[in-house]
Amino acid sequence: MNKTVNVLSVSGGKDSAAMWIYATKELGVEVLPVFADTGHEHPLTYEYLHYLEQQLGPIKRVKADFTERIGKRRLYVHDHWPEKLVSSGMSESESRKVVERALSVLYPTNIPFLDLCLWKGRFPSTKARFCTQYLKVEVIQQQVYEPLLIEGYDIVSWQGVRAEESLARANLPEREDGEGFSVYRPLIHWTAADVFEMHRHHGIEPNPLYKLGMGRVGCMPCINCNKAELFEIARRFPEEIARVAEWEKIVAMAAKRGAATFFFSPDGDGGWSNIHGVVEWSKTTHGGKQLDLVKAIEFENVPACSSAYGLCE
Ligand code: SF4
Repeated sequence: MNKTVNVLSVSGGKDSAAMWIYATKELGVEVLPVFADTGHEHPLTYEYLHYLEQQLGPIKRVKADFTERIGKRRLYVHDHWPEKLVSSGMSESESRKVVERALSVLYPTNIPFLDLCLWKGRFPSTKARFCTQYLKVEVIQQQVYEPLLIEGYDIVSWQGVRAEESLARANLPEREDGEGFSVYRPLIHWTAADVFEMHRHHGIEPNPLYKLGMGRVGCMPCINCNKAELFEIARRFPEEIARVAEWEKIVAMAAKRGAATFFFSPDGDGGWSNIHGVVEWSKTTHGGKQLDLVKAIEFENVPACSSAYGLCE
C-alpha cells in the first residue's frame, strides 16, 4: 500500500492556518504545509508565515517561474507584432516603437504575479481570473503533487474552504476520493468564528492583518477586492498602492495597446482606470459620483485596530 501525504495549502489567511492547527494539534495528523508565493502578498503575511513555522513546523515554499514563457513572448513580439500592428493601421515607425517598448520590459522579474502579467500583457480580472491557476494551482501541481506521485505516494489535498463563503463552496463535498489523489475539506461546515476559536484555543495568533481592517488575506490587493476593502488597504498601506501603480506602468509597456490597469473602471463603462483612480472612487458614496466627507475624514484618521471579525474587543 502506498504511503499517504497530507498536503495542506497555506495562504497566510485564517482558514488555512486554522486547518493546519486543527490537523496538527487536534487530530495529530502529519501534514505537508505548502505556500505558493505570488510575490503580491503584504509583508505582514510573510512575517506571519515565519511565525506559523515557529509554532507548527516548516512550510514548503513554491513559486511560479515564467522565464520560459516570457522568453517565448519576446520572440513572438519580435517576430509577429510588427506585421500585426501595421496591418491594424499603424505606421511602420510607430509599430517599431511599440515593439521596442514591449521588448524593453519583457524580462522576468522573479516576482510571480508581475511576471504573469508581463507574459499575458495584462492583469487578471474577475472575468479573466487566470492568476489562481498559474500562481497557485499549476505550481503546486508541478512542484509538489507530481514529484510525490512519481515517488509513489498517495496524496490527500486538504483545502480550507468553508460553505458560508459562497454558494459554489456550499455545494462542495467534505471529501472526494480518487485513485492516488483525494480531497479533504475539514472546514466545510465551520463558521468564521470557529476558525478564530481554533486559533485562540491553541494560543496561536491569527494573521495581524485581520486586526488592521482586512476581511481577507491573500494578494494585496486581490482582483476580487471590493470598494470597502480597497479603501481600507489604501488608507493603511499606501505603499502597496504605490507598488501596484508601478506595476501598472510596467505591464502597460508590455501590452500591445500600451495600457494596463489592475482594476476595470468602477464606472462600469468597460473603460480603464488606474489604481489611484480606483482608490479615489473608493472614497465616494453610492454611485461613485460624490466624495463622501465622512469617508474622507476616516481615510486620514486610521484606527490602530479595526476588525470585521470583532478581534479588537
Ligand atoms: S488572491 Fe486574488 S489576486 Fe491573488 S491569485 Fe487569488 S484570486 Fe488572484
